[in-house]
Amino acid sequence: MNLTPAMKQYMDIKEQHPDCILFFRMGDFYEMFFEDAVIASRVLEITLTSRNKGREDSIPLCGIPYHAVSGYLAKLIGEGFKVALCEQMEDPREAKGVVKREVVRVVTPGLVMEAGSLSDKENNYIVAWHVEGDRYGLAFLDLSTGEFNVTQTEDHGDLITELLGLGFREAVFCETGEKDKILESLSDMKNNFITTRLNSKAFAYEGAFSVLKDHFSVDALKGVDFEIHRPMTRAAGALLAYLKDTQRDSLSHINRISWYHPRNYLVVDDTARRNLELFATIQDNRKEGSLFNVLDKTITAMGGRRLRRWMTYPLVCPERIGLRLAAVSELKGIQILRGELRDLLSEVYDLERLGSRVSMGVANGRDLVALGGSLETIPSLKGAIRDVESSMLSSIGESMDDLADITSLVERALVDDPPLSIREGNLIRKGYDDELDQLMSLSLDGKSWIAAMEERERKKTGIGTLKVGFNSIFGYYIEVTKANARNVPDDYVRKQTLVNAERYINEELKRYEETVLNAEESRKIREYDLFVSIRERIAQEIGRIQKTASLIADLDVLSALAEVADLYGYCRPDVNEGDVISISEGRHAVVERMGLADGFVANDTLLDGAANRFLIITGPNMAGKSTYIRQTAIIVLMAQMGSFVPARAAEIGVADRIFTRVGAGDSLARGQSTFMVEMMEVASILRNATPKSLILLDEVGRGTSTFDGLSIAWAVSEYIHDSERIGARTLFATHYHELTDIARTREGVKNYCVAVKEWGDRVIFLRKIVEGGTNRSYGIQVARLAGVPEAVILRAREVLHNLEKGELDGAGQPKLAGGGGLGSRKNPGQLSLFVNEED
Ligand code: ADP
Repeated sequence: MNLTPAMKQYMDIKEQHPDCILFFRMGDFYEMFFEDAVIASRVLEITLTSRNKGREDSIPLCGIPYHAVSGYLAKLIGEGFKVALCEQMEDPREAKGVVKREVVRVVTPGLVMEAGSLSDKENNYIVAWHVEGDRYGLAFLDLSTGEFNVTQTEDHGDLITELLGLGFREAVFCETGEKDKILESLSDMKNNFITTRLNSKAFAYEGAFSVLKDHFSVDALKGVDFEIHRPMTRAAGALLAYLKDTQRDSLSHINRISWYHPRNYLVVDDTARRNLELFATIQDNRKEGSLFNVLDKTITAMGGRRLRRWMTYPLVCPERIGLRLAAVSELKGIQILRGELRDLLSEVYDLERLGSRVSMGVANGRDLVALGGSLETIPSLKGAIRDVESSMLSSIGESMDDLADITSLVERALVDDPPLSIREGNLIRKGYDDELDQLMSLSLDGKSWIAAMEERERKKTGIGTLKVGFNSIFGYYIEVTKANARNVPDDYVRKQTLVNAERYINEELKRYEETVLNAEESRKIREYDLFVSIRERIAQEIGRIQKTASLIADLDVLSALAEVADLYGYCRPDVNEGDVISISEGRHAVVERMGLADGFVANDTLLDGAANRFLIITGPNMAGKSTYIRQTAIIVLMAQMGSFVPARAAEIGVADRIFTRVGAGDSLARGQSTFMVEMMEVASILRNATPKSLILLDEVGRGTSTFDGLSIAWAVSEYIHDSERIGARTLFATHYHELTDIARTREGVKNYCVAVKEWGDRVIFLRKIVEGGTNRSYGIQVARLAGVPEAVILRAREVLHNLEKGELDGAGQPKLAGGGGLGSRKNPGQLSLFVNEED
């Protein structure tokens, strides 16, 4: 194919970015060609045309106007595409030959900065992992806030827990050719992120370490042992190098590297996170109906993200938890203070993301004004918490930098309501810069100059209605009505004809136009330069902005937790190192908000490391068992994140992990049977639980035959109870009332049941948990409640009666057919259970 020089340039650049859609800047448009054009026109719903249409060498083509790029970008990114932005690097008028072009930024789902592609209260993480033997390194960062975290673990499960908790948008890892086990474990969320495979060179230790050393200050690297944590270092270095490759902009807002260990927090693995519906409901993955939704009374986006973090990483150290609780307590108690803080917070924009935009040089005038305006409230925020008792609150107030220098710079330099574009002028306030003021007065004085000329020309021509004016297409003109047109002097040159008037220009006006237009042009350039230098000055203070943003996030979360505690009547838990979990009148934070007709029935819980360490809760389906065991776990989690809890009183001996095995699995997508998944989860609990853990088991064994199921449930219970290493505090909800017999031989097992009232043939759920076991499962009554036809209910009762009487036929099978009806179906595996019971 015979290519023009521009197309040849295009091909060269495209070759370097084969996995991206290339936005190729040509004048006021970004053009896309070939396959890119075909894809983009489909996704963006824009017209696909072609270059050299109809000819043999025609090339598919589509384009978008440059000023509308962010919307189109958001759409492609949202669909999981990567886009390379290729700009003209010189003025086409000054270019010799083809205009110089370069890719200035690669935008991917994990590397977007555009507000339209980010959700306010969620981080936008890109992750990288690396494996050395059985050591797993993980690095993740949010380009839009500058947060950069690293960790390393020896446990594959820990790594997966971390990854699933992050909800990241892009994963970077080493292409090894072999199947990536980690990727396989993430298959449930595979549609939510894109993958970027880098070659093994990117992950080489030496190179990775030097990328980190070059980027971060010595201070920032202090406290992390990169020698020991090799896989982590390799992941972090590769990730940072990938960023440097794709972003031409400064990355100076990524200036801290936070090292953490997952086990230093209350570990809530992905199963537990989903089962407890912390961030979304299990059934339809909605945010409404989640714990986050109930607790999220934060006002700022930073606060929303911080709350999510506190929920994902609850603490285990009672002292630290106590600091948060004391702050929440004070804010809950002093309503006026809380109200004032929340009013002030509502004036604070997303400082973290604004700061990052400033630092990366993509912030516009509105961003700076939003930044300045937000910072203006800081002195009042500091003032409001000057005389508080809580040490956490007062240290937030003291450490908060009011950034007065930035506030005043923005106020002095920028107009109140700047336009979106930073190249069109009208950004900078009068009085900020002398040179600009002069240029401005040239164009501003225009009005009086025009009036003066109008006056002069009227006199000269004797046309009283003559007007001098300006229009953006035709420029300056002298307008004369048609009737007077024959009286215009010779030096008037006709420019434009209207219905009733003619428009002219003369030498004087032409000269004036040139000066003004030049002044306009110079003014725009001057304003742009000034703006960029202001932005750069603020960018140097990014560290201070980030610190203040982080303190505001904490303050916002604390005041939100106080707000919820006050609104919903939560109490301050007593959190300690002991092993007692004692809750009086506890409630389920989410279920109680669902507007139940008869209100929520509160229940007590007592767990400890001795006689009350294994609670078996029996009761019919729908009685409230799951709700009860989950409410206990949620209360523990809330307490450890520093929140008040839905109870009258609560003592919480901190847990190191929460395990759950709840309900029928929803992992059919993974192609595993429900029972298999269930048993894998049980296996993981038995392997990983410690005496400090809290375990919830709900209907373990349900996925197989009654006989198998009960046996497994029984053995699992004994194992957890007996094993020295486990002995964890456990809540086991089951409808196998036979299990209650374990309490006869195990001193740590306590039986509870959900009270039901029998009303003739019917049952009424009282939702009250009482000591003791049930010996009936009320299955038939529940079936009736659910609306199963009366004839079936009656027949079931008959069959049950026969079973309980042990009426067997000659072959030793229960005589189901007795009384007619269902016909005899043999299922010895299930039914022999009852025969054994008789024996
Ligand atoms: P189970 O696990 O015994 O089958 P669930 O815990 O799923 O029962 O509870 C069934 C329903 O009963 C819940 O959806 C909720 O609406 C209601 N419920 C549960 N516990 C309570 C309670 N303590 N107070 C009021 N309603 C409750």
